Amino acid sequence: MSGPCSTPQGTSQGTPQGKPMFARIALIGIGLIGSSISHAARRAGLAGEIVGSARTPATVETAMRLGLIEQGFVTAAEAAEDADLVILCTPVGLCGPIAKEIARSLKPGAILTDVGSVKAAIVNDVSPHVPKGVHFIAGHPIAGTEQSGPESGFAELFDGRWCILTPGPDADEAAVKTLSAFWEALGSKVEIMTPEHHDLVLAITSHVPHLIAYNIVNTAAHLERVTDSEVIKFSAGGFRDFTRIAASDPTMWRDVFLNNRDAVLDMLGRFTEDLTMLQRAIRFADGETLHRLFTQARAIRRGIVQAGQDTAAPDFGRGFGAVETGADAPARKR
Ligand code: NAP
Repeated sequence: MSGPCSTPQGTSQGTPQGKPMFARIALIGIGLIGSSISHAARRAGLAGEIVGSARTPATVETAMRLGLIEQGFVTAAEAAEDADLVILCTPVGLCGPIAKEIARSLKPGAILTDVGSVKAAIVNDVSPHVPKGVHFIAGHPIAGTEQSGPESGFAELFDGRWCILTPGPDADEAAVKTLSAFWEALGSKVEIMTPEHHDLVLAITSHVPHLIAYNIVNTAAHLERVTDSEVIKFSAGGFRDFTRIAASDPTMWRDVFLNNRDAVLDMLGRFTEDLTMLQRAIRFADGETLHRLFTQARAIRRGIVQAGQDTAAPDFGRGFGAVETGADAPARKR
């Protein structure tokens, strides 16, 4: 596809004041998260116009056909031009290179943000390319499913979910307020923290659980005395949930682990220690320890339910309450 394509479908539904929050929003990457932002932004009338780019023309065409964007581009630089809000919705490892590519297109006063599941690496990679007068505030909606692509998004994805923003110490206060208001209007609750703390928290609530899911599914697939067809046939609740999480996009998750190595390794160390404790308890038939540890874990689950963060889409099944992808997706309404 060369040059922009446009569709007559308008987006400007207007806020209660009659003016959308942003005249033009640019989505760089239009997969699950990008398309869900488009749906939710349209629902709330936050954009005069939504434009976007993706890696492949096929995704841009699909996004146009679905009415997710009014104009589609094959380069991120073209999509970012004249946008008031630019959101990087690509795999984590691409945020730095894309920021470099779009730097010249960003207009003064624009807000540049992202949705990546890792924050410190993105802040490091993107910040050097942000021109003066452009406000870069990194972000991460803690909401997702194991689906990907422009057809998988839905307006309710962010409803009642947290969105973490990690503005730097010199971030423009008004821009942070505007971006927070944007995420709230998409349905989220907003929390501000440092990128490093974000990475530590998400390592244990999302990244390590995904690694465990990938690992247990692969372990089951490589057993000699249990066949693959038995694994599929007798797949019990716990294992089924792991397979759902392990169906998450390999590129996205490769980038997460490559970009949050320290925190993940730190949490994996703790996890391994605790697993060894359980292993010992089983070996020595220490029922008291097992019961005590299971009771503690149950209390965490109850806390998640009480906080309203346990909703799972009926078509995605249920899993870790705090896992980002899939398990905490709100019910889909289409
Ligand atoms: P996705 O559905 O796979 O979509 C990724 C999008 O990025 C696609 O549109 C892809 O285009 C595009 N892309 C890839 N390379 C590109 C490039 N060089 N230039 C422009 N666009 C490019 O992924 P997603 O689930 O929306 O995840 C996007 C980001 O959100 C990731 O950083 C992830 O960490 C974060 N996140 C994900 C979840 C989740 O549960 N999935 C939750 C919270 C945050 P093509 O389709 O043409 O390849």
